[in-house]
This record gives sequence, C-alpha cells and structure tokens, in this order.
Amino acid sequence: MTAAVYVDEAVWDEAVGLLRDHDDVALACHVGPDGDALGSLLALALGLRSLGKNVVASWGSEPFEVPPQYAFLPGLDLLSPPTTFPAAPPVLVTFDTGSVDRLGTLAGAAGQSGAVVVVDHHASNTRYGTVNLVDPDAAASTLLVEELLDRLGVPLDKDVAACLYTGLTTDTGSFKYQATTPAVHAVAARLLATGIDHAAIAREVWDTKPFGYVKLLGRLMDRATLENGLVWTFSTQEDFREYGVGMDDIEGAIDVLRTTSEADVAVICKQNSEGRYIVSMRSKGGADVGAIAVANGGGGHRYAAGFTGDADLASTIARVRAGLAGPARSAST
Ligand code: AMP
Ligand code: MN
Ligand code: MN
Repeated sequence: MTAAVYVDEAVWDEAVGLLRDHDDVALACHVGPDGDALGSLLALALGLRSLGKNVVASWGSEPFEVPPQYAFLPGLDLLSPPTTFPAAPPVLVTFDTGSVDRLGTLAGAAGQSGAVVVVDHHASNTRYGTVNLVDPDAAASTLLVEELLDRLGVPLDKDVAACLYTGLTTDTGSFKYQATTPAVHAVAARLLATGIDHAAIAREVWDTKPFGYVKLLGRLMDRATLENGLVWTFSTQEDFREYGVGMDDIEGAIDVLRTTSEADVAVICKQNSEGRYIVSMRSKGGADVGAIAVANGGGGHRYAAGFTGDADLASTIARVRAGLAGPARSAST
C-alpha cells in the first residue's frame, strides 16, 4: 500500500531514534487546538504511554479547555495545563504547528528543549525542528502520527484510532477536500477496522451544537456580503455573548458560507476577547489563501488558511481584498 505521507527515510529514523532513546517526552500542539491538532497530540501521547514513556501534553493558550466537540476524545487524562509544562524538555514533539509562534506560551520550551520533532503538514511550515516530519501534501497531521506510531511499533488500538480518525475527518472536511487521496481512504479503512464508532465521532464533531449556535449561524449568514467572487461575514464578541456560544462553536460556519456558488473564496472574521478579528479563509482553488495568510503574519494551506487581523473589521477585510487583488490571485491555476 502506498503510504499516505512522504518523509525521507533518514528523517523518520532520526525521529524514531529520538523517541526510543528518551523516557520523558513533552508534546505540544498549536494554540486554540482543532481536531487535527488534538487528535495528533493525544494519539502520540497514548502511543508513547503504551511504550512506558512519561509524557506531558499541552498547548499554550488560555483558557486551557478542550473544545466541547472534542471532549469525547480518548486520552484527555494525559493533558496538563501549560503552566506545568517543562521549561526545557529533553525532547519536544509539536503537532499541526507551522511555526514556533503558534505554540503560544509554549514557544519558549521549543527554544530550550534538547531536540524538537515537528509533525506537521502546513505548506507554510518554517522547519523549526531538529527533525521535521513535514509533508505539505498530507491531508492531516494525524496521517504523519499514524506512520510514526507504526514505525515505533505501537499497535493500533481503538483509542489511538479514534484520535487519528478525528484529525483525518476534520482536516479533510469529512473526506471532501482535495488532499483526500486513495491512500487517505486506505488509512481511514484501517482506522475503522479497529471498531471505532465513526458515526458517533461525526455526530460529536459536526452535528452537536447548542441552539444558540443555530441562531447565531442565521445571523452570520444574513450578514454575509458577496463581492467579486469573495463571500464574507463576521462575528463579534457581542454576538457570542448574546447567543451564549464561543468561538470554537462556530468553527463549522465557514462550511456553510463556502457553499456560495458565486464565490471562490469564503471568509469569516471572528472577534476575539481582545477585540481583534481572527480571519478564517477557504478557497475553491482560484486563489491561494495560504499566501494571503502568510502575507498577514498567519499561515495555512492553499485552500484553508487564517491569520489574526486588526481590531477594526473594515481594515481586516481590506487585507483579504488586497491579497485577492495581488499575487494570490495570479498564483491561481
Ligand atoms: P481555520 O480557519 O482556523 O480552520 O484554519 C485554517 C488553516 O489555517 C488551519 O490549517 C490552521 O492551522 C491555519 N491557520 C489559521 N490561523 C492561523 C494563524 N494565525 N497562523 C498560522 N496558521 C493558521
Ligand atoms: Mn490545525
Ligand atoms: Mn492540520
């Protein structure tokens, strides 16, 4: 079977050697973790524990809470708050994190650790590790973790499979996005064969929302603007307060917005507690939203990317418009 990811053999060997040689391993994923970040983190944490390692697993953003749609994941007992994370771990493994700043308050630990193993699939990855298990063509970071666990000789059990499957289904948009190859389906089949309840995972991840979410979704869609192939909307802190939902709850709103047939690019600007707008972008292929994100200090992939914008909504969306008028558009195929 063709592997679902490609990394040089020598790089795999280095990563496996580091993890075999150390009993204490620190694990961190990106701030504001999504299904791929959490699934990758927990799968390797569970796998290393089964090998008898001492693991500490965390991410560097507050509040340190697992988003409700991922609260079903196995291995949550392995998580600890960033305040208790070792300042200088002998080995640090990072997941789904394209650059050191995306580690938030744990960025310092990356600088102080003996070795850093980067497990990621962002095109914008800065290769900040001692060992970089990075494949920009991989559909999800959990695919790299799946291969790494195999190479470490960890048997695939149901708990590990549930974590890996969650990352795979979230980052492929339920196996819809371009990066979904035959090899991705082969991995999914292997994960399903462990007996995981994929229907329950889908229900938890996509189909369980508070009523306030449905109401807020209505408001966000009502507010949407369509202009020159761009459809965009926004959510303010006042909206979140009014409907009693958090920023994590509206992760899926962009999938509704991007159904707009007249638009190539969909954007949602979500106001954070400091007042700045967090920008989520999706492209159907005409524009490279990853390039727009990088130009604005963020990152991501060609078809899905994000950055932290300004406290002003108009100037934030102006950044996206400027990006679309520039090289991102001419980079289109
Ligand atoms: P999202 O819109 O939050 O689902 O993010 C889409 C993709 O862009 C994901 O792969 C994120 O990891 C990446 N991304 C989003 N925001 C940022 C950021 N501020 N910096 C780097 N990458 C980001
Ligand atoms: Mn992610
Ligand atoms: Mn990912």
